[in-house]
Amino acid sequence: MKPINVVGIGYGGMGSYHLDHILPNETERFHVVGTYDIRLERQEKSREMGHKAYDSLESVLGDKEVEAVIIATPNDSHKDIAIQSLRAGKHVVCEKPVTLNLQELDEILAVVKETDKVFMVHQNRRWDPDFLITRELYQNEHIGELFQIESRVQGANGIPGDWRHEKKYGGGMLLDWGVHLLDQLLFMIDSPIKKVAADFSYILGNDVDDGFISYLTFQNGIKAIVEVGTTNFVKLPRWYIKGTKGTAIIKDWDLSGELVVRSGEENISAPKPIKAGVGLTKTMAPPSEEATALLELPRGKAEYDPFYKNFYSVVREGAEPVVKNEEVRRVMALIEKIFEAVEKHQILDFE
Ligand code: NAD
Repeated sequence: MKPINVVGIGYGGMGSYHLDHILPNETERFHVVGTYDIRLERQEKSREMGHKAYDSLESVLGDKEVEAVIIATPNDSHKDIAIQSLRAGKHVVCEKPVTLNLQELDEILAVVKETDKVFMVHQNRRWDPDFLITRELYQNEHIGELFQIESRVQGANGIPGDWRHEKKYGGGMLLDWGVHLLDQLLFMIDSPIKKVAADFSYILGNDVDDGFISYLTFQNGIKAIVEVGTTNFVKLPRWYIKGTKGTAIIKDWDLSGELVVRSGEENISAPKPIKAGVGLTKTMAPPSEEATALLELPRGKAEYDPFYKNFYSVVREGAEPVVKNEEVRRVMALIEKIFEAVEKHQILDFE
């Protein structure tokens, strides 16, 4: 096995996560040659961490030893760095969101075609255990056929960092977290999308969305709500999933939650009215104990290789990428459609 020599471009939060947390577990496949960050203090930090610190992108791209780069810089810089790297004959791992829009992505993809180098976007949340549970519910119908999926991430810390607050750097929560949640849904649901509606929140007064909610209707009938918030002092569950035979909640990344299905028992007496507020209701009374069963959430498994193992096989053996550029392109097209739906205050057709 010949390791791939890599350099990290952008040695901030995520750049250092790639180099100092993920790749140390992949030493058979990858050799970290060094980093390049425009900020001197990050170059210094890189040296402290035992990496060579290049002082320019050109010096990285001119180094014949370097076979691949990992781009973990602010979103607006991905396109130029990717194109320069591909043209210099390097394979590229690029952080999400791949670019600010479809046009930029298409410029990269044209160069991928021309250079025949590997370009793979780090949509790492396809391996998240909570997502894999949802995918298991979808594929193996533990709660029947799914017809409503609500996927949310909510925090109370506002938009983090500096560049994420500004439009010109590709800030905002749709591009930051939205791209992950939309990528998960589109990767899982094998159906085109018919309709898209969305709204943004600007509670914090930035020029970018500090949260959003989007409604997607898939052609196979599934409806999805995708929501991101940064001013939520009390959170809703990470996933709320309704199927024809039951309902599941995955509360958080700790995978706590509930799965309740119809028991299928016959001759169950009708629910009795309960007092609700100042009134009575039978409709909203809890189902009787015989009518439902509380089950464990199933665990899901990614039957595809982990990201870097796959990237290695794509580069060295011409394997199929798990994250395909057409899939990334489809998510980017959806993001553009969401921006358009917000701007026009309309429900738009898609696909
Ligand atoms: P960050 O601000 O912590 O780090 C970015 C670094 O890039 C900084 O050190 C900055 O000095 C450097 N930089 C800026 N322009 C540069 C250039 N032209 N050349 C070289 N270095 C440059 O940001 P971050 O949180 O690490 O985010 C970086 C990227 O990673 C973003 O695209 C973000 O969306 C992505 N990200 C992905 C995940 C994930 O789970 N996949 C998580 C966090 C961030």
